[in-house]
Amino acid sequence: MLDYANSAEQKVQHITEELRSTETRHRQILASVSDGIIGTNANGEITFSNPAAAALLGYAEAEMLGRRMHHLVHHSYPDGTPFPESECASYQTFQDGRPRTVDAEVFWRKDGASIPVEYSTTPLKQGFAMVGAIVVFRDITQRKAALDAILDAKMAAEVANRAKSAFLANMSHELRTPLNAILGFADLMRREARTGRARLTAEQAENLATIHRSGEHLLGLINDVLDISKIESGRATCQPTDCDLHALLGELGELLRERATLKSPSLRVHWAATVPRHVRADATKLRQVLINLLGNAVKFTQQGSVLLAVDALRGEQGGRCRLRFAVSDTGPGIAAEEQAKLFQPFSQALAGVSPQEGSGLGLAISRQHVQLMGGDIAVHSAPGQGSRFSFELDFEVLKGAVPEAKAQRLVIGLEPGQPRYRVLIGDDIETNRQLLIKNLKPLGFALIEATDGEQALARWRDEQPDLILLDMRMPKMDGYEVARRIRAEEKRGRTPIIAVTASAFEEQRDEVLAAGCDEFLRKPFRDADLFELIGRHLKLAFVYAERAAPALHTAVDAARLGALPAALRAQLREALLVLDGARCGELAEQVAALDPELGAALGKQVKEMRFEELLGLCEAADAWTGT
Ligand code: ADP
Repeated sequence: MLDYANSAEQKVQHITEELRSTETRHRQILASVSDGIIGTNANGEITFSNPAAAALLGYAEAEMLGRRMHHLVHHSYPDGTPFPESECASYQTFQDGRPRTVDAEVFWRKDGASIPVEYSTTPLKQGFAMVGAIVVFRDITQRKAALDAILDAKMAAEVANRAKSAFLANMSHELRTPLNAILGFADLMRREARTGRARLTAEQAENLATIHRSGEHLLGLINDVLDISKIESGRATCQPTDCDLHALLGELGELLRERATLKSPSLRVHWAATVPRHVRADATKLRQVLINLLGNAVKFTQQGSVLLAVDALRGEQGGRCRLRFAVSDTGPGIAAEEQAKLFQPFSQALAGVSPQEGSGLGLAISRQHVQLMGGDIAVHSAPGQGSRFSFELDFEVLKGAVPEAKAQRLVIGLEPGQPRYRVLIGDDIETNRQLLIKNLKPLGFALIEATDGEQALARWRDEQPDLILLDMRMPKMDGYEVARRIRAEEKRGRTPIIAVTASAFEEQRDEVLAAGCDEFLRKPFRDADLFELIGRHLKLAFVYAERAAPALHTAVDAARLGALPAALRAQLREALLVLDGARCGELAEQVAALDPELGAALGKQVKEMRFEELLGLCEAADAWTGT
């Protein structure tokens, strides 16, 4: 009996020791944790606190006991926004017995200060009854400070970015306004010369062309800077439309050839017969990329040639095709170590730095545009061996023709028998009004002027014009307000309003249309676009100057030369090689007998002594036909 009692006592003692050592171990573990751990009873009164919890909240461990958990919670988020007790996580856990984790709340310290914490509450249960909760929390002051610093920096960057965009938009508006006058008046003088209303000597015409070209160049630079800011802020998007690819390539050749003829390299644009004519593409971006690549090639190539070749990598499959665009030149080439930097904004390699030309933005923009269209630009180049920039893109091939691009024909008057329409011009800048007046007056329009928004509205009320050309940024009342008021007041039918704006962004079109305008014409505008819009809204019939002869490149291409008898082509090649103009002329006549358009174009090109270019085309035709 005694033995039994002894052994039972020993067992109890043993268990008690075990328990004590387990508790000591647990306390040691809890004491070594840097997170605060609090235990409560079912009433939410603290029954246990580890040293970290007491230290974080500024109490002695013993002082923690008996306090109510809810009193420790600030009931506000770290940014100070208060919330009701019912939304407090530990309160809710006591209500529904479910565990919770909270990202960021605030606990009170003994000294009245508060600390941001992340914490979790876990219910303690016996059977179904809740007998208390365990709260584990962590001081997130440092993390919050780091986060706040990031948020502050982000905010500051956003503010700076917005300021930069606003600055660029304003600056571009300011630059576009005088540019509108420069380009517009140069255009006007050219038109007057071409329609016989004014006479220009050859030198004056050349000077005028230089003014125009420089203006276009400046406009290109302004647009580049805007493009870069748009790309940097992620606002650039791809906008595919139905596009006549052959026409686009042909125009490019013509445009660049003008520049190239000023210097020595010959320029060829060549597309394979398998390249589809009508595709869906963001023609504006594609054109911009190709102009940039070709422009660079022409700019940096002192002698030799520049070639834009377009090939179909895959024939049409399921309504799609893959095309490769490659611009090659025989220029100075680019060293491997410089190639990596080429596509960074404002970076220029050796060839770009020496003539001190260009902004170093073109390739950065081009790459971004090509990437937006689903490809990438590759460069193959070595010093002294020329350069080749290429990219591949997928296109949807369109069946049937794309409506012809708006013909940029030269308007010289109105068909007789049309009413004398009255046009209100609202613009605060005298030169802008003058430019519109000088474009429209010779066509017989009656013109009404307004120098600010209020006046524009008043003159519309008094004179009921047939159409309004409205600047959007004007003193007293801006164009948006004028348009809105007119739309609200008008009873006798809708007066067409064409917004003529130097706004930096094409995206403002939507805003302008929402205000009640019918069209958006961006300064600097082309006179043909102005007439087209007015003509459309007033249903006018214009008299146009005779159309210029079809551009040469559309007639002379390798595929068409390839259709000639091989012997005739061989003779032509020989004559071109020895630069025998007379013989080439004879051969052009022989070609004309077979293909009149090609013969005429050839004859013209021979007269302009573009031998090297023609030779290149003959060679391409030979390669084509395998001769
Ligand atoms: P920009 O032509 O305005 O300087 P780009 O971004 O178009 O700017 O070109 C960046 C640089 O790349 C040029 O300054 C030039 O050094 C180099 N580069 C571009 N194209 C060629 C080329 N075809 N041949 C030689 N160098 C080129």
